[in-house]
Amino acid sequence: MSVEREHCQCQDTQTRFLQRAFESLQLGDAQRELLLSVFRETTITIPLRPHRADDDGGELRTYMGYRVQHNHARGPFKGGLRFHPSVNLGEIRALAQLMTWKTALVDIPFGGAKGGIAIDTTELSQHALETLTKRFVQKMAPVFGVHQDIPAPDVGTNPQVMAWILEEYSKTHGYTPGIVTGKPMELGGSAGRLEATGHGVAYLTDKAATEMSLSIKGAPIVIQGFGNVGFHTAQRLAAMGARVIAVSDSRNGVVCEAGIDIEQAQCHVAETGWLEGLPGTEPVSNAELLEYPCDILIPAAVEATINCDNAEAIQARLVVEAANIPVTHLADATLRDRGITVIPDLLANAGGVLVSYYEWVQNLQEFPWEYDTVMQRLEQRLDRVYDQVRDLAQQGATDLRTAAYELAIGRVNQAMALRGF
Ligand code: GLU
Repeated sequence: MSVEREHCQCQDTQTRFLQRAFESLQLGDAQRELLLSVFRETTITIPLRPHRADDDGGELRTYMGYRVQHNHARGPFKGGLRFHPSVNLGEIRALAQLMTWKTALVDIPFGGAKGGIAIDTTELSQHALETLTKRFVQKMAPVFGVHQDIPAPDVGTNPQVMAWILEEYSKTHGYTPGIVTGKPMELGGSAGRLEATGHGVAYLTDKAATEMSLSIKGAPIVIQGFGNVGFHTAQRLAAMGARVIAVSDSRNGVVCEAGIDIEQAQCHVAETGWLEGLPGTEPVSNAELLEYPCDILIPAAVEATINCDNAEAIQARLVVEAANIPVTHLADATLRDRGITVIPDLLANAGGVLVSYYEWVQNLQEFPWEYDTVMQRLEQRLDRVYDQVRDLAQQGATDLRTAAYELAIGRVNQAMALRGF
């Protein structure tokens, strides 16, 4: 599938999912249009000489940067920054909108946004990455703000990148830790933020599996993606007694029926850069990995990895969307017809933005919380939201995704009406 087609699919998928919820909520055309409309899109260019450590001389390149602010009816815009070669305005638009529904679903006082730079960070030195990030912030500073728009990590960014954002913004605004979440703890980051998304995914996987009479202990699980989310999900599920039998990175996957030692896998990646060649495992392609026999499949990479080409071949009973928009709308229909339960992204991976909210609150209060407090609040909130979604799905005889969208859209719609948007 061409990259172009995938991205069209990502926007199209998002709209199709919404249409199902719009129908159940019986929303009129004007309301639908308002809910779909984007508040502001900012596109910038960032000139950089990426191959020179001192950014002086060498080949000059111009990178595209974006920030899409979808809706702020319920609070400041909130959402991550993605540094990835496939970043484009269409993709960022779909992901920004998803953040609006995610923050509404878990009922935190934020709207939705997303940003990014179309770049392959593996070809940059740390110095060039720092320069690029700071130039991005210089140009985006007018749209960012503690009560306006708060970025966070996403694919290809990490706490170090957030630290540079904090530094650049603070140069002109004074020390402002609440401008960004997912920061290192030394700079006001929250305990537990790094593992929050994976922890939440594992928590909800366990909860959903239990409801399906599937014990997490010994359950064969396949995880696609071994970045921050994939790794922490795998680590947590393994600690809960699950058998993580296959994991993959953007190049290849590895399989071990007895269960992969996740810590060893992480060390191997730290040493070699890739999962390939992990002792005690067999190689498998990313395509084969998704179709590998297992109880639970967790896509934790990028969009549209479960699509028309493989939906019929998925062998799991439960699919948990740790990534954003990993299942296309056509594949979603196929999984539904085949009786495979899907925990949708806006619920499954909401632990990340939930702890981002806790981080922001701690920054505003200038009072850090203990790790256990953060984790307890994370689990309690996800537990409650899952129950709400499951109950609504059962009442309406619909799927978890449509129920989640209905709850989220209802809240955003109500906030817009109260504010007189
Ligand atoms: N990038 C994450 C997401 O897609 C986290 C966003 C945030 O913490 O603001 O949910």
